[in-house]
Amino acid sequence: MDSMTALVKARPEPGLWMETRPVPDIGVDDVLIRIHKTGICGTDVHIWNWDDWAQRTVPVPLITGHEFAGEIVAMGRDVTDLAIGQRCSGEGHLIGHRSRQARSGKFHLDPETRGIGVNEPGAFAQYLRLPAFNVVPLPDVIDDEIGAILDPLGNAVHTALSFDLVGEDVLIAGAGPIGIMAAAVARHVGARHVVITDINPDRLALAAQVADVIPVNVATEDLRDVTHRLKMTQGYDVGMEMSGSQAALDQMVESMVMGGRIALLGIPPGKSPVDWSRIVFKAITIKGVYGREIFETWYKMIAMLENGLDVRRVITHRFPVAQYQTAFDVMRSGRSGKVVLDWTTPAA
Ligand code: ZN
Repeated sequence: MDSMTALVKARPEPGLWMETRPVPDIGVDDVLIRIHKTGICGTDVHIWNWDDWAQRTVPVPLITGHEFAGEIVAMGRDVTDLAIGQRCSGEGHLIGHRSRQARSGKFHLDPETRGIGVNEPGAFAQYLRLPAFNVVPLPDVIDDEIGAILDPLGNAVHTALSFDLVGEDVLIAGAGPIGIMAAAVARHVGARHVVITDINPDRLALAAQVADVIPVNVATEDLRDVTHRLKMTQGYDVGMEMSGSQAALDQMVESMVMGGRIALLGIPPGKSPVDWSRIVFKAITIKGVYGREIFETWYKMIAMLENGLDVRRVITHRFPVAQYQTAFDVMRSGRSGKVVLDWTTPAA
């Protein structure tokens, strides 16, 4: 075992290429993970498309991918708390140990963070090197395809748990996979009404299949009518902005209660104008959310999955890795939920 197949950003142009690469060497504190399944992320689509962000961020060549599940097949000399054969996923953010944030245990706020599949060799490969510190063992109830989407589920959990949701009315803008999973989490932890908005009917239909939520197509329905029908006299207590759309954020601010709380995960394209005076006069709290809390989000997420949180239906497509072109076409169509690649079948 010294070579492997991997999906590589091999050239500074649109596309990814299946190439043969050496199996990574591991250091004394690393493990080698045989990849079973991977999820395709919006980030991977940006890298495929080679947009401005990707050109600024991603070195070429680079093995892409950061959403994975697999099993440990080799361990560095100093790794003592894991075992060969252990099924696992893992945190794809590789943190430093020097910053104030990292040294105080706020690992997710470390400014030295580097991402696998974005800055460092990634998980779209038969084998991945990962620091043992980043490994998250999987209990038997979490199978490989759910393990492969724990990274985006972690974004959803981190966003959803930013504010107390028990008994609250929640508005989620953006019914992509993360918005949908955040809706499922909000339900699971006891929100009262969960309303999710989008302008894509396929995504709204998927949201209603995955979670007990009220989908609203803001292109054809008036959100205020829905809010009144649900007897919210003042509006939503908690908002989660998952779309990056200026119009959606405006509508969210408009729809919140006085003193409402908004978590922002969606990334607007470039700078966008914000009506700050409305935010001030409504006394709204806004929190930017990045990544997952390492490792508190992972702990909560796994505990909820063990206790009945079900997001499996957000996975709409599964392909052997040899069909990665088709898988990316599906992703880029905007008509899918999560798309999972299976690496256990040979890449031809
Ligand atoms: Zn991702």
